[in-house]
Amino acid sequence: SLLIEDGNRLVLVDAGLGDKQSAKFFRFFSRWGEHNTDASLTAHGFNRDDITDVLFTHLHFDHCGGATKRDGDKIVPAFKNARFWCQKDHWEWATISPNPREKASFLKENLEPIKDSGQLTLFAGREAGFCKELGFEMLLVDGHTEKMVLPKINYKGKTIIFAADLVPTVGHIPIPYLMGYDIRPLVTMKEKGLLLNDAAKNGYLFFMQHDAHNEVVSLKNTEKGICLDQSISLKNL
Ligand SMILES: [Zn+2]
Repeated sequence: SLLIEDGNRLVLVDAGLGDKQSAKFFRFFSRWGEHNTDASLTAHGFNRDDITDVLFTHLHFDHCGGATKRDGDKIVPAFKNARFWCQKDHWEWATISPNPREKASFLKENLEPIKDSGQLTLFAGREAGFCKELGFEMLLVDGHTEKMVLPKINYKGKTIIFAADLVPTVGHIPIPYLMGYDIRPLVTMKEKGLLLNDAAKNGYLFFMQHDAHNEVVSLKNTEKGICLDQSISLKNL
């Protein structure tokens, strides 16, 4: 996840796996390290109730599970003052008869409470564009899942692409190194190639969401293709 403070808005991009699932679930998807949302927010002088917006890049459980929590025998939004944002086609893809391949990633307990909360805004638009409410541009890609959203954020004069599951770690920078979860691998290769080229040419940085060791990275064009240039900590930008 990435927290963006912009004027009066405090936007969280994705909400992680969360902690409401069963012990059995966490045997398969164990959480690594000491970090969690509350501790990270506290470290920056915020708490959950300060979050004004949560943007889902897509609805696979490791990106949206933390947006809801258990409250007795109910599941409720974990950010009570936030508006939840999701691309409309993707929401429908995930909730209206999801395909058998991704069905196990789109969990009802993550999505129904968000829908029922009245805090959900679905945004349409099949093209990339600027979202006035959130204050940044969004790119759309279709290789990993239908209409995954990649925020393109201006920060201290730099452009940071939140690469979500298009380029989840630096290990996925080489074009043919794909995630097994991609529904359209050939489309991912094409989308990744275009975006990496653009990034290397224009000096965009990539935020790699699943990379435990690199916060943001710059890229360079070499004779072997686009490669990692520098790994940078956001606080040193
Ligand atoms: Zn995913």
